[in-house]
Amino acid sequence: MNQIMGQFGHTGGEEVPALECRKVGRTYMIKRGMFAEKQPLKAVQGINLKVNRGEVLAIVGESGCGKTTLAKMLLGLLEPSEGEILLDGMPISSVSILDIAKKVQPVFQDPYSSLNPRKTIEAIISLPLKVHKIGTKEGRHARVVEYMRLVGLPKRLIHSYPNQLSGGQRQRVAIARALIMEPKIVVCDEPTSALDVSVQAHILNLLQDLREELNLTYAFISHDLAVVEHLADWVAVMYLGRLIEYGRATDIFANPKHPYTRALLDSVLTPDARLGLPEITLGRGLPNPLSPPSGCYFHPRCPKATDECSQEAPVLLETEDRLVECHLYK
Ligand code: SF4
Repeated sequence: MNQIMGQFGHTGGEEVPALECRKVGRTYMIKRGMFAEKQPLKAVQGINLKVNRGEVLAIVGESGCGKTTLAKMLLGLLEPSEGEILLDGMPISSVSILDIAKKVQPVFQDPYSSLNPRKTIEAIISLPLKVHKIGTKEGRHARVVEYMRLVGLPKRLIHSYPNQLSGGQRQRVAIARALIMEPKIVVCDEPTSALDVSVQAHILNLLQDLREELNLTYAFISHDLAVVEHLADWVAVMYLGRLIEYGRATDIFANPKHPYTRALLDSVLTPDARLGLPEITLGRGLPNPLSPPSGCYFHPRCPKATDECSQEAPVLLETEDRLVECHLYK
């Protein structure tokens, strides 16, 4: 139990986490019509997470659950409305842009749109070094060659353009570009979801190898639990901006406790997990985050909902091996 709470930073621990969220929230003010008043949309609410060096934290949930907003905050691209994010124990707000770039780098979902089609592979991979005025032209060239080798790209592609590469090769370019600043943390936002199934496994294996070789820490965002099963040490499940289950990946996969996590896992067991969540388990889609349901946000879709669930919001409870936000575990 202490391990779980220590992981969240509730009891403290000796190791300074590589990345930590303390009650992090992000609210957007949204207009629903031309003459309507702005309304708050809580994209992320009160998230406590902690990733130690060399570990992989998977953040999973459906599209619209707030995981991409959280990823942007972890990268310093968005400021939290509440709480704070710490890098190596330092509030991210006090770290310079260059130091954030040295510590945290992103790998995004779509290698087709994240690479400039008019730049060569060398120019794309070396861009972070150039932006931060690191190294000479020759030095940057040598680094590009080294990182191309590291991610399994043939050197002959160095003067090619993105449209001359396959989807998997493009994602390798994106990974090389992320790693060339020698970050300790990589935020992977659905890095394989735009790729063919046959290529996904190669990229996941590459990420796993790089993690071991470079002692990287990953925050791995995915809608698909199957993708993170073999990579993640810890799994955080989000629903409508809230953390609803958190624990060791082995425990979550062996025995999901929250009904939503169970449904996500069931979707993995369907022949094609990318088809989405099974209707039979979850019924209708994600509620409108501008007017979330009363009580437990999940109650309109939950097969185990009781009257209490629609009236009283559950709190995140500490159980034997994880944190879970559900009345069933009171
Ligand atoms: Fe389902 Fe109720 Fe648990 Fe929410 S609190 S997940 S509605 S059982």
